[in-house]
Amino acid sequence: MEKILKKLADEARRLDQEDNLARFRDEFRIPRRDDGSDLHYFCGHSLGLQPRAVESVIREELQAWSQQAVRGHFEGPLPWMKYNDELRPALAQLVGAKPREVAVMNTLTVNLHLLMVSFYRPRGTRRKILIEKHAFPSDRYAVESQIRFHGLEPSEHLVELEASAGHRLIDERDVEKFLEQNGDDIALVLWPGVQYATGQAFDLKKIAQAARLCGSNCGFDLAHAIGNVPLSLHDTGCDFAAWCHYKYLNSGPGAVAGCFVHERHHDRDDLPRFHGWWGNDIKSRFEMGPEFKPGTGADAWQLSNPPILSMAPLRASLELFQAAGMEKLRGKSTQMTAYLAEGINSQLGSLLEIITPADPQRRGCQLSIRVREGHEKGRQLFRYLETRGVLTDWREPDVIRVAPAPLYNRFEDCFQLLRHMSDWAGSIGIPGYGSAS
Ligand SMILES: *Cc1c(COP(=O)(O)O)cnc(C)c1O
Repeated sequence: MEKILKKLADEARRLDQEDNLARFRDEFRIPRRDDGSDLHYFCGHSLGLQPRAVESVIREELQAWSQQAVRGHFEGPLPWMKYNDELRPALAQLVGAKPREVAVMNTLTVNLHLLMVSFYRPRGTRRKILIEKHAFPSDRYAVESQIRFHGLEPSEHLVELEASAGHRLIDERDVEKFLEQNGDDIALVLWPGVQYATGQAFDLKKIAQAARLCGSNCGFDLAHAIGNVPLSLHDTGCDFAAWCHYKYLNSGPGAVAGCFVHERHHDRDDLPRFHGWWGNDIKSRFEMGPEFKPGTGADAWQLSNPPILSMAPLRASLELFQAAGMEKLRGKSTQMTAYLAEGINSQLGSLLEIITPADPQRRGCQLSIRVREGHEKGRQLFRYLETRGVLTDWREPDVIRVAPAPLYNRFEDCFQLLRHMSDWAGSIGIPGYGSAS
């Protein structure tokens, strides 16, 4: 075991030295342990770390507020009126959309609801929503309540697709097959870009095409996909998408969220939509007239004037993504996750099982690791890691989720995770384990 660990340590050191994105780690505040050393942070799938620039961009806005007050809407280096336009190009690039197709607003679940107002329109016999079994609870609650809102019964109109017999994961083919056979009843397919529990990444084009082919609308929840895997939303042909910015986008707890509306819907006046003054065309917004004139593209879905103090961190974060480039980030991410996966499989395969797909095309950076012995041992390992300064995430009943984020994680972090996992195996008396044994 010592030998294998040594080899893994050398490899991590070499990969960190060759990493041409390594400098981006210095752009983040890395949480520390009590002894002052860096925590090995693997929870970018839940809350991304804080970019150093966040403090100064927020200070700038506080300054603008204190000095310009109401004039801050129109004056200063970046008037608040123009904030959305400032963020739009980088964000559109990140999700593979045209700038007018994206808007920054609200929070994720709110956006899902607002978009379903427009894109879940049960009619005749086409009234059902298709989601995955084991969807993120908020998405499930949202679609269930939308169905009730239309006077329908979730027990009849909410369809939760399961993996085919003998499989743990649903794949695109399962969705296609289901829609070929049952698509006439489906009004909306709502699907994740990356599944939060398993880390599985989906081919969104296939899913959007299958939905459109059977006459259904299609929306994506990109909470775990944005900033994690390359996206080309426009080309998928989906109708809408929504995401949050506090996971891989590092924009802070409860950060303002984003949404996408495909351009083919932009000038439709037959589409119902909930309106607010910020969705009004900017040219006539301040005439304060009684009649709503929709703004361009996704902006028409905005309701309120935006939360600038929450948009500022997103601006800082998008600058980092622009500077690093999503393609390079994805390159490092693929390499780092493969290093970790190979380490787990080769070293700890008898104790741990990775349920995330092995094919790099079918996953982002996250690995979901099942502890073969189940709940009790799993929780023990999770706690053990925590006391060793390795922060992972526990999902009942037996899964540990780890996400090496290419902007700030190092191969060294992944090595430390492997080393402490191995030590734990030694500590519970599995023969041959433990670097200290
Ligand atoms: C993180 C996450 C959410 C969280 O929703 P909020 O409205 O931001 O609280 C919802 N759905 C999915 C799939 C998520 O991963």
